Amino acid sequence: MQLIDIGVNLTNSSFADKHEAVLERAYDASVCQLVLTGTSIEGSEEAIELCQRLDETAQRLFSTAGIHPHSASEWTADSARHLKDLLKQSRVRAVGECGLDFNRDFSPRPQQEKVLEEHLALAVELQLPVFLHERDADQRLLEILRDFRDRLPAAVVHCFTGEKKALYSYLDLDLHIGITGWICDERRGTHLHPLVRDIPRGRLMLESDAPYLLPRTLRPKPRNGRNEPAYLTEVLREVALHRGESQEDLAAHSTACARAFFGLPVIPG
Ligand SMILES: [Zn+2]
Repeated sequence: MQLIDIGVNLTNSSFADKHEAVLERAYDASVCQLVLTGTSIEGSEEAIELCQRLDETAQRLFSTAGIHPHSASEWTADSARHLKDLLKQSRVRAVGECGLDFNRDFSPRPQQEKVLEEHLALAVELQLPVFLHERDADQRLLEILRDFRDRLPAAVVHCFTGEKKALYSYLDLDLHIGITGWICDERRGTHLHPLVRDIPRGRLMLESDAPYLLPRTLRPKPRNGRNEPAYLTEVLREVALHRGESQEDLAAHSTACARAFFGLPVIPG
């Protein structure tokens, strides 16, 4: 079995000095390729460096480059140029993480929308897929995406946590959907149980979003409470259960989907 973690925040300080061990456990758990999430200019540079240092053969580690909507107010006149340089590097396989977060509103909404449009323009220009973040902002995200969709090669709504209407609207725009351990959360994720069945094969990918979102169904619970990519197997188990698929089947089609989306190499199992 092979799994691909399409979203891991490996540059997070909680993984400092632990990268090798975290990756070793991921590989042992069949998570054979990982896409490191870039959430700022510096963070995206750091993610590329980690890929190069920890995977010299360029088989297993890849990254995205972008600015998270929380940090949209950091966008300056130089940001587009910096970002474009990063997006041209061979390890970088998608534009993002970018999008809209009207849940926490850490940056003003008009600024979030402007910075999202800057990312989408770069994705169109460079013909790269997009790694999207959305919380409580599906209507505005859909409106903005509709203006760009026919020129974008592909886009994934990462860590989808929304309702049925949002899911169907995203699928109508032929977007991909990323599912995290949110689905394992009995307090706020059970609405996803019937919904994951409605995501077609070829549109569904799995992600840890580590170190965040430790799957709450995981047993035994790790003492430090920190999520890591090795626990993607728990997301696989939960999603397979609610889709009525075997874990092997789900692993096969979600991995093929992620490989095609990010243009990752086929590696020996
Ligand atoms: Zn996100």
